[in-house]
Amino acid sequence: MKEKHLNNIMLESSCKITDEICLPDTKLPRVVIIGGGFAGLALVEKLKNKNVQVIIFDKNNFHQFQPLFYQVATSALEPDSIVFPFRKQINGYKNVLFRLAEVQEIHPSSNVITTNKGKVHYDYLVMATGTITNFFGMDKVESHSLGMKDIRDSLNIRHMMLQNLEQAAITCDDKERDALTNFVIVGGGPAGVEMAGALAEFCKYILPKDYPEYPSSIMNIYLIEAGDELLNTMSDKASSKTLKYLEGLKVNVQLNEAVSNYDGNEVTTNSGKTILAKNLIWTAGVKGQFPKGVDKKHVVKGNRIKTDSNLKVEGYKNIFAIGDIAALISKDTPNGHPQVAQAAIQQGKYLGDSILSIIENKSVKPFKYKDKGSLATVGKRKAVADLGKLKFAGYFAWLLWSIVHLMSISGFRNKLMVGFNWVVSYFSYEKSNRLIIRNFNPKSSIKNREK
Ligand SMILES: Cc1cc2nc3c(=O)[nH]c(=O)nc-3n(C[C@H](O)[C@H](O)[C@H](O)COP(=O)(O)OP(=O)(O)OC[C@H]3O[C@@H](n4cnc5c(N)ncnc54)[C@H](O)[C@@H]3O)c2cc1C
Repeated sequence: MKEKHLNNIMLESSCKITDEICLPDTKLPRVVIIGGGFAGLALVEKLKNKNVQVIIFDKNNFHQFQPLFYQVATSALEPDSIVFPFRKQINGYKNVLFRLAEVQEIHPSSNVITTNKGKVHYDYLVMATGTITNFFGMDKVESHSLGMKDIRDSLNIRHMMLQNLEQAAITCDDKERDALTNFVIVGGGPAGVEMAGALAEFCKYILPKDYPEYPSSIMNIYLIEAGDELLNTMSDKASSKTLKYLEGLKVNVQLNEAVSNYDGNEVTTNSGKTILAKNLIWTAGVKGQFPKGVDKKHVVKGNRIKTDSNLKVEGYKNIFAIGDIAALISKDTPNGHPQVAQAAIQQGKYLGDSILSIIENKSVKPFKYKDKGSLATVGKRKAVADLGKLKFAGYFAWLLWSIVHLMSISGFRNKLMVGFNWVVSYFSYEKSNRLIIRNFNPKSSIKNREK
C-alpha cells in the first residue's frame, strides 16, 4: 500500500516551477543530499521508501570505494571493481532520485542550491561532500605530484608508474633511469603505508619477470613521514609492526622528515635531504570541500564544517553535515570524529533516523560514535589490527582486513570481481592489469584536479 502510494506520487506529479532541474513535485518533504560517498549512501539507505523525497546530487555518477584506490594504482584491481553506479544503487527505491550535477552554492535564506545544471529547492539539506588532497599550500609540490583521492588519481598513478618503468628501459642515462624508477610516497597514514607495501611487492614479484632488463634493486621505494611513527592514529604496537613489515619489504622509511620542495625530478626535505624521483605520491593530508554559501564562522580546522551534537550545521535550522566534512566538536571530540568510513556510515545512518524524527516532531538524541577499531594492511598476507583492547598483527589481521573490505564494497558483482582477483593474486602474485590504456600527461592530471 505504502509502495503504491509512493509510486503514484513519483509518476503523477510534475516539476515544481521554482526548480530548474526537472524533479517531481511530490508534496513530501524534500531531502537534498550533496555527495554519494559512504555518508551520503548510508543516509539514502535509511530514507529509502519512507515518506520523504530524496534527491542525491554528485559530480560523478558513481560511488567510490576509496580504501582500495591503492590496488587500482598498483594494477591489482580494475577501476570498475571499486566504483559503483548510483543509479544501480538506488534501483527500486521509489522515493530516491539521482542527479548528476556539481553543487556550486547553497542559499540558506531561500532553501535553494545552485548546481552547474540549475537551481533546486530543498526542505532539508545534507552536505556529505568529503575531502580533497591537502598539499598545505605547496603549489610546486602539488603541480608535480599525484594525490590519491579519486579513482582518476589511481589511474594516473598507474599510468605514470608504468610509463616511467617503460621509459627507464629506453633511456641510456643512468641518472634518469634512477629518477624514473624511484618512488616517493609522502604520508605514513594507512593510505601511504598500504601504497608503499603494494609497490614493494610489485617491485619484488613483478619487476623481475616483466622487466628483466634491470635488477629489482633498481626500483627504490621511499615512505616519508613528518611524525616520529607510522599509523599515528593506531597503537604503538601497530606502528612498530608496520615499520618492521615495510622494512622487511625493503621500503626506505624516513620518519621525522617533511617534504619541502619537489620539482618533478628531485624531492627535498626539511632537513635538506634530496631524493632523485620522477614519481611522487602524496597521501599526507586532506581538507574538506564544500560549495560556497556556508558562513565562514562555521568552518574549522581542516576546512571542515562545525556541527552541533545532532550533526546540524550551527546557525541553520535545516542544514546538516555528515562524514569527513563534518566536525562535531565536543569535550570528547575536540577535533571532531576521525575521517574514516565507519564514522561517515554511522553519521549517515543516524541522520536518516533523525530527519524522520524531526519531520514527525519527535525528539532527537545526540550522535554517539562507536569506534569499531582500525585495520591497515602491509602488502599481501600481513596487516595490523587494533580492535579495542585486542591488538594483533600478521596473517590473521590480514585475513580480517580482507573480509571487512570485501564485505564493505558495494554490489555483488564488485565483491565477486575483487574476491576473484585477490584469490588469483594470493597464489600467483600476478597482477594482470598492467596496461597503459591512455597516455599519462602530468599537466592534464593537474587540470583534472582543479575541476
Ligand atoms: C586512499 C584512501 C584510503 C582510505 N582508507 C580507508 C580505510 O582503510 N578505512 C577507512 O575507514 N577509511 C579510509 N579512508 C577514508 C574514507 O574513504 C573516508 O573517510 C570516507 O570516504 C568519507 O566518506 P564521505 O561520505 O564523507 O566522503 P566521500 O566518500 O569522499 O564522498 C564525497 C562525495 O561527494 C561528492 N561531492 C563532493 N563535492 C561535491 C559537490 N560540490 N557537488 C556534488 N558532489 C560532490 C564526491 O564526488 C563524492 O562522491 C581512505 C581514504 C583514502 C583517500
